[in-house]
Amino acid sequence: MAPVQVKNILCIGAGYVGGPTCAVIALKCPQIKVTIVDLNKARIDAWNSADFDLPIYEPGLEDVVRACRGRNLFFSTDVDKGILEADLIFVSVNTPTKKSGVGAGFAADLNYVELATRQIAAVATSSKIVVEKSTVPCRTAESMRTILEANSKPNCRFDILSNPEFLAEGTAIADLFSPDRVLIGSLQTPEGKDACAALASVYANWVPTERILTVGLWSSELSKLAANAMLAQRISSVNALSAICEATGANIDEVAHAVGYDSRVGPKFLKASVGFGGSCFQKDILNLVYLSESLHLPEVAAYWRQVVEMNEYQKRRFSKRVVDTLFNTITGKHIAVLGFAFKADTGDTRESASITLIRDFLSERAFVNIYDPKVAESQIWQDLAEACPNLTLENIKKQVKIFPSAIEASRNSEAIVIATEWKEFKTIAWAEVYESMKKPAFVFDGRLLVNEAELTKIGFKVATIGRPTA
Ligand code: NAD
Repeated sequence: MAPVQVKNILCIGAGYVGGPTCAVIALKCPQIKVTIVDLNKARIDAWNSADFDLPIYEPGLEDVVRACRGRNLFFSTDVDKGILEADLIFVSVNTPTKKSGVGAGFAADLNYVELATRQIAAVATSSKIVVEKSTVPCRTAESMRTILEANSKPNCRFDILSNPEFLAEGTAIADLFSPDRVLIGSLQTPEGKDACAALASVYANWVPTERILTVGLWSSELSKLAANAMLAQRISSVNALSAICEATGANIDEVAHAVGYDSRVGPKFLKASVGFGGSCFQKDILNLVYLSESLHLPEVAAYWRQVVEMNEYQKRRFSKRVVDTLFNTITGKHIAVLGFAFKADTGDTRESASITLIRDFLSERAFVNIYDPKVAESQIWQDLAEACPNLTLENIKKQVKIFPSAIEASRNSEAIVIATEWKEFKTIAWAEVYESMKKPAFVFDGRLLVNEAELTKIGFKVATIGRPTA
């Protein structure tokens, strides 16, 4: 049987992954109709908004959507219609970490994946290729296949593929245009290989074939967890070294540079910071921990858990450094926190280090002034309310203010904390900021962003990750 020619793609889940990924497929494959659906009407309305006020911020995304929305790219809440029409369906729904229940702790909550899978089985009247785009524990495809086969109509075949997404928020469009690799996992049966070839032919419209890797289903699922675990491990390793640098007078930038020069290590992803955030690294490592535990591999579980614990330690260590440096008390002091997103060039705040720092500052009864160029005020209040369950929102608002610029947030404060590496923080009018602050004026650079020598010359006392406080 010749591989299916994909003509109609559905993506279930219009979030940070489903939206950009399938918008790029639509751009690069004008011959394919692409529909992205979501249960969240507000999100779909934003994707369809006349002024392209899209629900997520990603550099370059708006141009992609402008080029193909209404041509071969559609956003809708009609999941059933999308299922009926599609020959290939991406499942790109959220897979958060379970917070409660039996076996909870680190397990992935696969409820959304299961509901989407059941809906596909219930609605489909013809054969489909179903592609796991969500990051899932190893062998989730098997559960999906069991559900699909048990609920399918006669003459409906479902072939399952794993096609994890490796884009990084903030550079999603560039990553999708030119991915390091596209990974497709399939069952090693003739039908599985045909389905794999069908999906590969979609990506081959713009991705060089040598970058399209085809592997077994379980390898593909595990590779995604492994990739994120190893990236996070690099960050935790360099952060662990940064603690030693602060205590010894070594400079983490110099150490990372020297280590990264070794071609076996390489220079990328060796920057010390206040800690990683985002919806993926912690969740995927905890997923790996849970998987290891359920496979009775406690030493493996402990190894990976330590990567997350080091990240928590780094955030705690930074908060403590702020308190210690500000003469052991921040009660009643004003701290400007620059950056609320978990990284630059995104409005995403999930697991942002900023939230943990602000929670710590509030618990010490400091006043916090926040500025972020992309995060909506409503999102900040929602995140802080969740992070501080002991405080009412009314009380949080007595301690926290949100400002429209870094300069305004910094005015009359005792200290500035740089929590997100937004480029604009490099070029703030630092001399002007210094004049407007209480003295001594401190800058705590959690992202190794500012020019320490320049700020010190102005008069600031600068504390940078991986270097002793000047
Ligand atoms: P998200 O929360 O932004 O988007 C998921 C969307 O799916 C939500 O809008 C939700 O309403 C929708 N949804 C859930 N169930 C649905 C259903 N049955 N029908 C229709 N819509 C439904 O999540 P995300 O960041 O896009 O992540 C999606 C998956 O991709 C996760 O498994 C994540 O781990 C993985 N991933 C994320 C990133 C990233 O950088 N965000 C990168 C790689 C992989």
